[in-house]
Amino acid sequence: MPDRLKELNHIGIAVTDLEEAKELFRDRLGFRWERDQELPERGLKIAFFSTGNTRIELLQGITADSAISKFVEKRGPGIHHLSFEVEGIQRVMDELSGEGIKLIDQQPRPGAEGHLVAFLHPKSTGSVLIELEEK
Ligand code: ZN
Repeated sequence: MPDRLKELNHIGIAVTDLEEAKELFRDRLGFRWERDQELPERGLKIAFFSTGNTRIELLQGITADSAISKFVEKRGPGIHHLSFEVEGIQRVMDELSGEGIKLIDQQPRPGAEGHLVAFLHPKSTGSVLIELEEK
């Protein structure tokens, strides 16, 4: 299954203070700010940045029960997930699941950018949270 996971789409980084993190990435590290987004139903606010071909997603939890708030509480801020593009997300999920990879999402769901996404369970992927994103 060559290139089952294709290009790296973005790196998700969990932060405690989105404004502070934005200032760091924009003003000191020189990333290009792309846009901000709030996902109240997931207890999240997000800022998208890029540099060269690399994109990052800064994620701050805005409710105590959001996945990002829990992550930060347990492990502190830092790299949260890697997102890879796939073709035929449901098929890829079924294949991986059939090969014993645990999935967090059993069904693909719309992600922050409106594309279908699904997460693999870090227990199956060396503690690295991997997001699949349909392109
Ligand atoms: Zn992501």
